[in-house]
Amino acid sequence: MTNEELIRELSAGNTSKHSESVTTQAEFEEFECEVRRLWSLVGMSGWQLVVTHRELDENTYANCTSDGIARRIEISLNKKPKECFDVRYLARHEMGHAMLQPLGQYAACRFLTEDELVSAEHEVVMRIISVLNWAMEKE
Ligand SMILES: [Zn+2]
Repeated sequence: MTNEELIRELSAGNTSKHSESVTTQAEFEEFECEVRRLWSLVGMSGWQLVVTHRELDENTYANCTSDGIARRIEISLNKKPKECFDVRYLARHEMGHAMLQPLGQYAACRFLTEDELVSAEHEVVMRIISVLNWAMEKE
């Protein structure tokens, strides 16, 4: 999730921001726990999941990278973002990206402009988050 995405999602009322600029081990554990809980819910069998706490670009809060050949997905929480917010929401957002793989990776090989691709992928991510939010309320 980048600053541009944050602005979009803050305007949609989906985030709760707090002020520390470093994510703690406890926040990472909460993030990882939520990612793994969602992972078991969405049934991505045949894919390996790795969850990491590492330094990313300061404008990125968390991200999801994938290798469609190795069938491996890495979801990371930034150790030193410019600012932090709700790690559970970040976990759901990055799981939305994970659920689009390998589609997102394949599409990236053929996109017209990067903005169009990112925007199209986010439309689907927002739909997935709606479903995840519904499913979580059922628990
Ligand atoms: Zn995103």
